[in-house]
Amino acid sequence: MSERDEIAVVGAGLAGCLLACFLARRGYPVALYERRPDPRTGQVERGRSINLALSERGLDALRRIGLADQVMADALPMRGRMIHPVAGEPQFQPYSVAGDRAINSISRGALNNALLTAAEALPGVRIAFDHRLVGLDPAGGEMTFKTPQGKVTATASVVLGADGAGSAVRGQLLGYGVLDESLDFLDYGYKELTIPPVGGEFALDPAALHIWPRGTSMMIALPNPDRSFTCTLFWPTHGTASFASLGSPAAIERHFATHYPDLLPLAPNLVDDYRHNPIGVLGTVRCAPWQVDGRVGLIGDAAHAIVPFYGQGANCAFEDVVELDRCLDDTGDDWSAALPLYQRRRQENAEAIARMALANFVEMRDRVASPVFQARKRIEHA
Ligand code: FAD
Repeated sequence: MSERDEIAVVGAGLAGCLLACFLARRGYPVALYERRPDPRTGQVERGRSINLALSERGLDALRRIGLADQVMADALPMRGRMIHPVAGEPQFQPYSVAGDRAINSISRGALNNALLTAAEALPGVRIAFDHRLVGLDPAGGEMTFKTPQGKVTATASVVLGADGAGSAVRGQLLGYGVLDESLDFLDYGYKELTIPPVGGEFALDPAALHIWPRGTSMMIALPNPDRSFTCTLFWPTHGTASFASLGSPAAIERHFATHYPDLLPLAPNLVDDYRHNPIGVLGTVRCAPWQVDGRVGLIGDAAHAIVPFYGQGANCAFEDVVELDRCLDDTGDDWSAALPLYQRRRQENAEAIARMALANFVEMRDRVASPVFQARKRIEHA
């Protein structure tokens, strides 16, 4: 394949946009296909704002394309966890002994928009919004897209699926019998709630990731640049203690007054948010192989979606892109060697973080509140 052949990237989310930037910098023409309209011109879907904890892994990738400073200008560093018990004062647990390490709260939408704009500005990148991939012939690289004008087709020598946890590219490979996948859903879902600013200021300490560990449920809150907090409540989807169990505004208020008493006065729209914001699903996606014949590959959540409890899904997707770029360096841009090498180097790491993310759920909802855990933290940081 010559360096001039166009690479197709399906999905202009975090991984797809970053990948387009890296490929364009290598001199490839890139066609970036996205099922949604341009998010920079529309509204954020209700209850799907999601702010992310961006850590060093993700920042490293952004530095390589010169975008870290711009993204960090709106980031809020969180230097530790603030644990909110049912009764009593919140306890701060720093992430590092000197208290100088932080993870950074950023808006996923704003990060996506910054990456889209960066990709669009590079020569050779063409973005096609409103293009939903619905068909892919992995042998010939022919893709079919559903668009508002009807179905269209396009062909590329290499097709990279960066189309998220429910990847259509992965689905097509599965349909052709060239890939196996397993999907493990938790019986937990998540719902976003909001703590608005109070008198123009943050209602809680913005330098911490706030956690309300409650055993069978858990809530976290991350700060936003507009001085609000986005809370994410994790709870079983069904059963007597679950999202489904609170049927009326009074029941919602009673539940929060009992289990999250310090949140209630800070969240005036709690009942409305609770009743109208959607419940997101949580799960782990595993598949193999991540590439077929060096012509079709999967990256980010499309290859390995994980539960969000380690805050590493996007960071990991960014690391994938850096590693694929390194594999292209190491193979002289021979895609038939680079894609298998990328899978070998990344798959084990993705599996490790998938397991750690599941384990961290137990730590965040139970162990951070235990007296033994808190005593150990105090000794570590004495
Ligand atoms: P996505 O962001 O899902 O992007 C996929 C893109 O593909 C989308 O734009 C989609 O519209 C498009 N697409 C889908 N299907 C098609 C199709 N058929 N044709 C064309 N386009 C298509 N990660 C962190 O690192 N830190 C955190 O703190 C963190 N917190 C999280 C909290 C929650 C509640 C959740 C749910 C996730 C969290 N994550 C976090 C994970 C992070 O959001 C994902 O890992 C990350 O978004 C993956 O990026 P991606 O580009 O692979 O997929």
